[in-house]
Amino acid sequence: MPYLAKKYPMVKRYACFILLLITQKASFSQTIDKIINAKEVERIEKKLSSDDMRGRRVFTPDIDKAADYIANEFKKAGLQPAAGTSFLQEFVMFKPTFISAMAVVNGKPIDDKNVGALTAQPELFVSQATPGYKQIVVHAQDTFNLLLNRLQRIGGNYVLMVDTAHRAMFDRIKRGRALFSPKGNIVMVLASQEAGEFSIQYKQSVTESPLKNVVGILPGTSKKDEYVIFSGHYDHLGVGKPNAAGDSIYNGANDDAAGTTAVIMLANYFAKQKNNERTLIFAAFTGEESGGFGSQYFSMQFNPDQVMAMFNIEMIGTESKWGTNSAFITGYEKSDMGKILEKNLEGTDFKFYPDPYPDQQLFYRSDNATLARQGVPAHTISTSKMDSEKYYHTQDDEIETLDMKNMAAIIKAIAISSTSIVAGKDTPTRVNTTQLR
Ligand SMILES: [Zn+2]
Repeated sequence: MPYLAKKYPMVKRYACFILLLITQKASFSQTIDKIINAKEVERIEKKLSSDDMRGRRVFTPDIDKAADYIANEFKKAGLQPAAGTSFLQEFVMFKPTFISAMAVVNGKPIDDKNVGALTAQPELFVSQATPGYKQIVVHAQDTFNLLLNRLQRIGGNYVLMVDTAHRAMFDRIKRGRALFSPKGNIVMVLASQEAGEFSIQYKQSVTESPLKNVVGILPGTSKKDEYVIFSGHYDHLGVGKPNAAGDSIYNGANDDAAGTTAVIMLANYFAKQKNNERTLIFAAFTGEESGGFGSQYFSMQFNPDQVMAMFNIEMIGTESKWGTNSAFITGYEKSDMGKILEKNLEGTDFKFYPDPYPDQQLFYRSDNATLARQGVPAHTISTSKMDSEKYYHTQDDEIETLDMKNMAAIIKAIAISSTSIVAGKDTPTRVNTTQLR
């Protein structure tokens, strides 16, 4: 700011100090604008939502093209691959269909509807004499779902004797829960007792489908074991029937090339800052439109206690119901993360609001849900007008319908509002899982 200094040559010391602060603030906003701007949004959006990517549908070569593009962007940004040398986090989805079950526990036959398994094997036979199996009694007061998540994360073989209080959850799992590259077998019997002698036979048919997320990390400087996640899903609906205009490609520019664009730009931003105390994880998820497959597998790779916050970003391409320079946070009241973000935005013209569409259950419908269910303050940031978003899930969700400038403002707001969490100064409160539906 040379102009100001010349005009007031006799500035006092404290004035100099204030001037220095102003200059620093100005140069900070210049740096952030250099990295996060409308032109950069357009560069990435254009690519991800192009007809060339044919709507990025799971289990097609089209989505692989998108994955390779995102991986290359992560590499250029200077991220490290999450595991090994590849930014592609590959896994297999196993979809089971129950065929039959036979079990005898403590000399008594068990009805086949009370026998279940989480396994990729078409057939399992387990008895008290089978080596490598550990028996766990799941009591009425235990959180069955959290236990299953933990066992699947650490891997191994288990026989669970599940209290009948968990019947609803047990039935839900039996209806055929997809498994993602499981690291063992879990056999479950719904019976409120410990099993002394038992024999369990379980048969199912299984289909296997390969999937991939794209994941890159920026290791933290002082708090390496504390993670902050920035994510969005890169899959969309693919190619369908042509509309009246003859367009058959569901480009998903807003849903969710927009969120993926934000993740890439935040990766670039934080990689250039080089001052994240906590480890930052950038993830582009697959299979959101088909049931959140990508985020389910991804979430299983962490001890949830180590995840301090998750910023999931969905549909930020149009202006929110409050206009530009604003967005909403799903599950706002479930942690104090929103309050922290607002505090960091004080003095800017950007504003976050609680989700105005609670009836839509957005908190449970996007990729934040799996980690939120394990207590992580995991929220989705969006601007989508869920009651009137004209091009939502249509062939017309194209880049021309998006506001690049406003998108840049939102991405900038996410970068700035996350500062104290990235720096390890603020830690959002955990989600109370007993109050989730
Ligand atoms: Zn979406």
